[in-house]
Amino acid sequence: MAAQMTGSFQLMKSLNRSLILNTIRMNSTISRSEIAKKTKLTPPTVTNIVNELIKEQLVLESRAGTSNGGRKPILLTINANSRYIIGVDVGVKKVRLALTNLDAHIAMRRIVAMPSPNQLNEGSFLEFLQKIIESFLGEVVEEKDKLIGIGVAMHGIVDHETGVSIHAPSLKLEGVAVKQVLENTFHLPVRVENDAKALALGEKWFGAGKETDDFVCLNVGEGIGAGIILNNSLLHGNDSLAGEIGHTLIDVNGPECSCGNKGCFQTLASGHALKERAKALIEQGEKSMLTEKNGMNAASLDGQSIYECAQDGDKVANQVLQETGKYLGMGILNIIHFINPRMIIIGGGVSKAHALIMQPIVDMVEKRALSDRAKKTKIVVSELGDEGSLIGACTLVLSELYSYEHAEKKV
Ligand SMILES: [Zn+2]
Repeated sequence: MAAQMTGSFQLMKSLNRSLILNTIRMNSTISRSEIAKKTKLTPPTVTNIVNELIKEQLVLESRAGTSNGGRKPILLTINANSRYIIGVDVGVKKVRLALTNLDAHIAMRRIVAMPSPNQLNEGSFLEFLQKIIESFLGEVVEEKDKLIGIGVAMHGIVDHETGVSIHAPSLKLEGVAVKQVLENTFHLPVRVENDAKALALGEKWFGAGKETDDFVCLNVGEGIGAGIILNNSLLHGNDSLAGEIGHTLIDVNGPECSCGNKGCFQTLASGHALKERAKALIEQGEKSMLTEKNGMNAASLDGQSIYECAQDGDKVANQVLQETGKYLGMGILNIIHFINPRMIIIGGGVSKAHALIMQPIVDMVEKRALSDRAKKTKIVVSELGDEGSLIGACTLVLSELYSYEHAEKKV
């Protein structure tokens, strides 16, 4: 009985602590009495917990606020540089690493080329990951004692609870125990998530989704993934597959996909599809600046040069971007009819061509969505750019620091 009472007391305290910490974070600066008002906690409870947070250096007392005549209240703010996080974004061709503070400001970054999938197996992949994180940590000096965790965003299907990469098709890997191995090596908590879901989380905390409760964030790179935020939470689905929009069927007779099926959304609307489309037109004999730029070598086409040539008025480059935009519009229309989110955020490499692909997307949605409000669904570009999934990886650790769920687990 006594143990139970202590348990519920500690649970209450942990919940209140997270509530206060989040209230300070959401308001940037706030007084103790405002916290009490917003959280409906008693002023003594707020004072006690705030004192603890100050002692732990998680919270700072900052400049005095304005007041009507009386004593100016002392304001509280999150001490962003009191803790640090390592973020790792494992893509198909490269791995990005970053050291960030609690505001997700990047203090240090590094990009490492990924070994070819043919040279990788589960064991060598984990060794590679350990090695590059160890080398990166070797450069972290001042912040080393302030590290609170490692967040990993990973291509493919990830079980976020066990931190296992279940299936990473482009890396030809299955069942990799990323969390367990990294925790054993670095003695820090490790969180692992699919890269598109991490991107969505990053956009929710620090990017275009900050003010929106329900949105879908598309990661359009070599493949296409999505992170779905519903009621401010990331949707995982029954088997971690929620958001695998890249493998929804658009054309039964379409091109073959890395998953083995034909005509998946990503075979028509990804960066890979964009290059394949340009390659096919050039091989059919279409004249394009792209051949000059790539030394007549259609196989080495890249998204950046297609975008640049399109901006210079190249017909082939413009055509393939328009077509890619049209297919992206189809997938987005499906999402709107399936989930009806307030907003769609487009991230990943292809989003850099937004000046040319946005119009066909908007046209598709305006023409075909079923209601007037759905036709006007807000469609925006990621605010976090190339480092979106990386910021998202760090947010995995941050969201634990601030979450009520985490507080419950600590009891
Ligand atoms: Zn597929």
